[in-house]
Amino acid sequence: EPGLYIVATPIGNLADITLRAIGVLSGCSVIACEDTRVTGKLLKHLGIKARLQRLDDHAAPQVRARVIDEARHSPVALVSDAGTPLISDPGYRLVREARAAGVTVTSIPGACAAISALAMAGLPSDRFLFAGFLPVKDKAREDMLAGLADIAATLVFYETAPRLERSLRALATLWPEREVAVARELTKLHEECRTGTAASLADHYATHPPKGEIVLLVGPPAESEAPAVDADALLRTVLGEMS
Ligand code: SAM
Repeated sequence: EPGLYIVATPIGNLADITLRAIGVLSGCSVIACEDTRVTGKLLKHLGIKARLQRLDDHAAPQVRARVIDEARHSPVALVSDAGTPLISDPGYRLVREARAAGVTVTSIPGACAAISALAMAGLPSDRFLFAGFLPVKDKAREDMLAGLADIAATLVFYETAPRLERSLRALATLWPEREVAVARELTKLHEECRTGTAASLADHYATHPPKGEIVLLVGPPAESEAPAVDADALLRTVLGEMS
C-alpha cells in the first residue's frame, strides 16, 4: 500500500524489530533515515535492499516534499538511528506535512528507550511525562525542572553519560526525597537499571563513570503517590456492607 510508514528500529539488540517492521521495510521503494550509514548497517543485517534518503528536521522543505510525493504512489518508510522516530528524533515535520497533503501515515511500533525504561524501573507508571533531553546549561536545566516540580507523574528524561552525574546532583538539590532511576544500555550487553535517591546515584556514578546511553527517571512528588480515594465509592461499599 502506498503511504508513509513510521517504523521503529532496535535501540541496541538487533533482534528487537517486529516482523511487521521487516515486512514493511522490505516493501519500501525509499527509506528516509537520519544517517544512511547507520540504517545501511541495519538493512544489511536484515538482508533488505532499498534506496536510502537522508532526511532530518534540518532537511530542505523540498526533500520532504519529494518523499511525500513518492509516498502517494508507493510505500515509503521513515526510520531513525534507533528506536521510534519522532521520539527525540526527526520526523515531526515530515509526518505533519504528509498528513496535510492527504498521504496515509501508519506507525509501525517497536522499541523506545523511554518506554522500556519505564517498564523496568519500578516507578509509578500509570502517569508519566516524557520530557526529552535535559538542557545542558545549569540555568536552563534548573528552569526546566522547576517547571516540572508539581507534576504528579513520573518524569522521564533522555540523558548522556558525561552529563549524568551533574544532572543527578541538580536533582539531589531540588528533590532530595524523590526516588530516581537510571536505566542504562537498554537491550544491550551491559544493561542496568539502578534506583535510589539522586544523591546516592550521583555518588555511585562518581566512582563508576557511566558509559553508553541513559534514561533518567524521577518518581512523582510524595503527596501524589497515594492513590486518590473515591469517597463516594467507599461510602457506598460501607453502606452496602451495613445493610
Ligand atoms: N528515538 C529513540 C527512542 O525511541 O528511544 C531515542 C533517540 S534519542 C536521539 C537517543 C537517546 O535515547 C539516548 O541519548 C538515550 O538517552 C536514549 N536511548 C536510546 N537507546 C538507549 C538504550 N539502549 N539505553 C538507554 N537509553 C537509550
